[in-house]
This record gives sequence, structure tokens and C-alpha cells, in this order.
Amino acid sequence: MNVGTIGILGGGQLGRMLTLEAKRMGFRAITLEPLPNSPCGQVADEQIVAAYDDLRAIGELGARSDVVTYEFENIPLQAVLALERDRRIVRPSGHVLRTTQDRLLEKAFLRAHRIPTPDSAPVAAAGEIEAAETKIGLPAILKTTTGGYDGKGQWLARSTEQLRVAVAEARGGPLIYERFIPFDRELAIIAARNVAGEIVTFPVTENVHDHGVLSMTIVPARIPPERAERVREIATQIAKALEIVGAFAVEFFDCGGEVMVNEIAPRVHNSGHYSIDATQLSQYEAHIRAICDLPLVAPHLLAPAAVMVNVLGSGSGDHLDGIAEVLREPDLKLHLYGKAHAALRRKMGHFTILAQSVDSAIEIAQRARARLRWIDRREGIAV
Ligand code: AMP
Repeated sequence: MNVGTIGILGGGQLGRMLTLEAKRMGFRAITLEPLPNSPCGQVADEQIVAAYDDLRAIGELGARSDVVTYEFENIPLQAVLALERDRRIVRPSGHVLRTTQDRLLEKAFLRAHRIPTPDSAPVAAAGEIEAAETKIGLPAILKTTTGGYDGKGQWLARSTEQLRVAVAEARGGPLIYERFIPFDRELAIIAARNVAGEIVTFPVTENVHDHGVLSMTIVPARIPPERAERVREIATQIAKALEIVGAFAVEFFDCGGEVMVNEIAPRVHNSGHYSIDATQLSQYEAHIRAICDLPLVAPHLLAPAAVMVNVLGSGSGDHLDGIAEVLREPDLKLHLYGKAHAALRRKMGHFTILAQSVDSAIEIAQRARARLRWIDRREGIAV
């Protein structure tokens, strides 16, 4: 099926980059997002301004789209199920969304397929925390079972007392108690599966986080080829087992030479931003091809190494200073998302560097990052 209009639930930067690729490929794009003038709405043909649980508006998006997708997995499952009941095509399906948006279901899926993942136990009531502590031990990470992202909705506990504080802060919501993994590094991979069942995997990346928010992606990850192959195998296994149609990300902990899955994101992902500039097929194009029943080709890097750096807000102003200096780097591509307010650690943009080696890409990235800072516009030079 070649489709004309792609409906996107969610209007953030992922939807924006997806839309830019969709437009290049000749599609129309409509986003549904509660905040007007969203990063995606600015570039889409239309934005339906509505809440994600406004079933009338969701129905309208479905009626006006040939295929609906999402750029954000915390949309209510009911929205996707309602579209499927209306016989709209949603990719990835409600089944995929259900499994990946609830950490307990996701863990059960991984265990059922013998895919390594940190030990965990559900904590539905305060009384269950002792049993989880006895079974899994400390330190531990407590996470809300749904709704968390960018490190939100999770607590690191090194003592029973810290566990108690975390449970109190979670205010009775269902939690998952996870073993803390003293990882050597975090890895991620983007993969895509199309309607015909073809699966492609992107290079394995190394992700560096700051306070739970991705700050840098290094490609290719500095790991032995067998470990990269294992990551690709697991991503392929997940794609087949869930019958995902679309691009998706799998995040891993690399600990003592073994990889274990942290989580699956059933959508294009921050750790795949590098692919816009660094691979001949981006994760966004792969997603559009996959959901529009088009063929996939194996992605490959256009340079030996790439680094992607997130440009995060600092809370100290909304004007980004230093852009002109950063743009002097010949192999750097800057992407800004059109967001007005640079709140602390808000994802405002990113840049990608292509280089001959990972070390030189990191060096250029650090130099460029040091030049950028958020200032109050009154201090800067008005443009
Ligand atoms: P998540 O929202 O599950 O991706 O977690 C955000 C970040 O918290 C991860 O990227 C890790 O840096 C850290 N984290 C999450 N779970 C664990 C764990 N079980 N052990 C160690 N670090 C973790």
C-alpha cells in the first residue's frame, strides 16, 4: 500500500523529524498534539490541537490519515485501540504499544523469549517492597510501571530507608523493583521491520546519559564485533516476536561483557538522531518506508564514526549563543526543534558530527558543546 497521508500521535521533535522525511518523500502529515505550534505542527501539513485521550479528535485523525503512527509511547493505549476498532491502520499496532508501554508486560515478554534483562519484581502495594528487597537486593532502581521517560518516575535506592522514601514519593502508584546494574556502558540499537516482514538493523550505538537524559550517542559503539552482533540478534528477535511494523529502539546495559535489555521503545528514538546525517537511510525514512509498505535497505554509516550531542536547555535563558562558531565546524550538522523555552534539560536540538574516528568525533563534539550556552536574550545580540 502506498499511502498519501500519515497521521502522527504526538507533536514533539521526533514527530518533526519524521514529518520532514515524510514531506521529502512526498507524503502529507497530520499531527495530533495538545500544545499548539508544536515542533511537529510547525512542519506538518496540519496539527489537530487536542488531548491524546480526546477520542473524537483521535477518530478525526484516523479518518483523515491512510496510516497512523506515534512518536511517543506514553499516549493512552485506548487511543490506539479506538483507532483499531474503527479499522484504521495503526503501525506499530496496539499490541506492540500495550507490551512496551508497561514495564511489567515488557519484562514478561523479554523473559518469555529468554532475552536477558535485569532481575525485577512488581511492587503493587507498599507491603510488597520487603519481599522485592529480599528477592533482588540493594542497590535497586524503582520505576513507575507506566508513563516514565528521560529518567522521570524512577528512584535509585541504596538502602531500605531510601526504598521507603521512593515508595512514599511514588504515592501508591504501581512500581517495578529492578536490580541496579553496575554497567560498563549503555548501548542502543535502532531496527525497523516493514509490512512484508523485512528487518534491518542500524549500527550499535553507545549512549551517555546525564541525570537520566541522553546527552551523547557515539557510533559505532566501542565494543567487540561479537557483542554488536548479539545486540543485532536480540533486536531482530524482538522485531519478529512482537511483529512490529515500524522503526523501534532497544536500549541495553553492557555489563561484564554481557548485554541485557533495559527497555524497548516502539518508535523512532533519540539515540537514532545521528542517522539523519550519518547513515544513507535514516531511522525516520526507515519508519516511513516500514509503515507505508515500502522496502527497507540495510543502513550503513557514511563515515567511520559519528557522534550526536543533545542540545539541552539549562534554565538560564531561551536564546542559544555560540551558533555561529559551532557552524564553522565543517562536518557538523545542527538541528533545532523550534521550541520557545529552554527549560532545564529540555531537548531543544542536537548536532551530529562525522569524523574519521570515534575519538576525533568526541573531541569535536566536546569543543562544539563548550561553545553553546543558553542566555537571556537581553544579554545577547538580537538577530
Ligand atoms: P530508563 O527510563 O529505564 O531508560 O532509565 C533511564 C536511565 O536510568 C538508564 O538509561 C540508566 O542510565 C539508568 N537505569 C535504569 N535502570 C537501571 C538499572 N536497572 N541499573 C542501572 N541503571 C539503570
